[in-house]
Amino acid sequence: MGSKTAINNCVLCVNLSSRLISTIEISDFERKQYLGGKGLALKLIFDNIKTGVDPLSPGNILVMMTGPTCGTAAPCGGRFVVVGKSPLTGIFASSFSGGGFGLALKKAGYDGIMVTGRADHPVYIKVDHDDVSICDATQYWGMDTYDFQETRKKDGDWVVIGPAGENLVKFANIASARRLAGRCGLGAVMGSKMLKGIVAKGNKKFGPANPEKFKKALKIAQKKVKAHENTGKALGELGTPQNIRIFGTTAIMPVKNFSKPYFDKLEQVSGETIRDGHKTKNHGCTGCFIKCGRYGKFGGKEKVSPEYETIAMMGPNLDISDLHKIADFNESLNRLGLDSISAGSVIGFAMELTEKGMLESCLRFGDGSNIKDILHDIAYRKGLGNDLAEGVRHMSEKYGGKEFANHVKGLELAAYDPRGCTGQGLGFATANCGATHLSGSTHSVEADSYLHPHGTRAKAHFVKFMQDSFDAINSAIFCIQTAYPFLEENFAYKYTPDPILKFFMRNLPALAVATTDLSDYSGLLSGLLGYPVSGGNFYKVGERIFNLERYLNNQEGISKKDDTLPGNMLKPTTQEGWGDIDLNKMLNQYYRLRGWDKNGRPKPKLLKKLSIQIQQLTKETKGYGRQ
Ligand code: SF4
Repeated sequence: MGSKTAINNCVLCVNLSSRLISTIEISDFERKQYLGGKGLALKLIFDNIKTGVDPLSPGNILVMMTGPTCGTAAPCGGRFVVVGKSPLTGIFASSFSGGGFGLALKKAGYDGIMVTGRADHPVYIKVDHDDVSICDATQYWGMDTYDFQETRKKDGDWVVIGPAGENLVKFANIASARRLAGRCGLGAVMGSKMLKGIVAKGNKKFGPANPEKFKKALKIAQKKVKAHENTGKALGELGTPQNIRIFGTTAIMPVKNFSKPYFDKLEQVSGETIRDGHKTKNHGCTGCFIKCGRYGKFGGKEKVSPEYETIAMMGPNLDISDLHKIADFNESLNRLGLDSISAGSVIGFAMELTEKGMLESCLRFGDGSNIKDILHDIAYRKGLGNDLAEGVRHMSEKYGGKEFANHVKGLELAAYDPRGCTGQGLGFATANCGATHLSGSTHSVEADSYLHPHGTRAKAHFVKFMQDSFDAINSAIFCIQTAYPFLEENFAYKYTPDPILKFFMRNLPALAVATTDLSDYSGLLSGLLGYPVSGGNFYKVGERIFNLERYLNNQEGISKKDDTLPGNMLKPTTQEGWGDIDLNKMLNQYYRLRGWDKNGRPKPKLLKKLSIQIQQLTKETKGYGRQ
């Protein structure tokens, strides 16, 4: 064993109401059960929050957590997660970012930070090595995320909110450098606590507890990351916009508020067009050598180049194909602190309402001239912007149009139309935080036809497998892009002819998921943590976390009635490229596989098998969430 460690086993706790600063020690048992990242953050919230708490009240708990990979040589491990109760959905949410804050916090001696309470004026938290203080941020309130970070660069690495978070926009994001924890409105939770930002600085070093084991696993893992077509080439060259062609030609990318399967100006917004006409350089998350982010020249200026989701939601979803405009919207979204997926969805919804005569507004499909103004109005809650700031669910309750209100459990759909990938529909319907693409993400295997893009066959098995394994990956924390090389660069997967692989995945899904090799993840973690982690243990951690979150959501009133999709998507379709979605059939299979009852609740014997202790969950809080 080496003398180094990959973890601090210490979480910083700051109560902004009482200004009390303390720490929580993470036990070996908790580490083994939840690894770090999303799992440990959820467990901390679980132990300390009151059921039914208002997400924008002082009683909500916000946790930012790193994983054992952060600060080590593990591939794509520099990211961190933000977890809390979402003001957009009213249930639990997690969102990931790759800016420098996570690593800086860990180097200061903390694996994470838990923030409770509410300050009586704008503040920021400063973590400078051992010294933690709550500082006045009155003069910075109102600044955008770029300007604020630029102004206070010398203090360390930041997480910050922009005007949208301050004004409690329900889909406000959190920025760290130019990377974003985008989804579910956790920026508004910071705003509700009057917390403009957190800055960290430290110089602790980390390394594997078992260097020999780690070195061996790392060599194999790095080779696979470099060898895989996606992580070794396409992501660096095209970034996530490589998906514009992939999902735009398979009837998956949303067009005109998810009303059409194909976009006739696809090439104008493709990743290849950006690479050839705009790209200037790559950027990425802390410590990642893939660097899938890009800068580009748009309208004569160098800007952060938009990702797939932003292009799809702010471009084709609004019937807009001008890349200069989309890049401009992207910069406004990032500066104001708005999630581009929810923003694109709520604007698309308002355009359809306007087109149908259900709303009077200046918003028209294909017209980008008012978009920057409306983003500003959303962030500052002016006029119609005040309604849009509440999200699609609220808009449909106020103006009608529930059939084409594209959300699940209040979270706007990520940029994948379930009629082009029905398994993704099941993934959206059952993901714990609503319609995210980062849980049960079968869209890529459906676009590649490993699973048939339509129908129900094998979908429940793969959705469950991906949800559980992604929760483990997100607790380690590895970037989710590692799933390509770690799951696909294995001998059996790589050298089995495609027709046989497809047959196997479609017809023997139980065997296909049970034999999927997770040994790269478990090998790296065994080296980092210094105790053996098998592929089976790793998967079980994910299954535990998924069910813990579902249990928490059940306590908030979530059940089968909420595991659904927008009404229009469940109607029979004759559009070329789309298939009908038999959600009920998939759901019943999925509940059986999960060990949930027919109302979508984990059965007691499942919770016991996963060592989730219910008596801990239903008790009163230990005090961190109380005011
Ligand atoms: S692949 Fe992209 S998203 Fe993943 S860690 Fe690297 S830069 Fe970040």
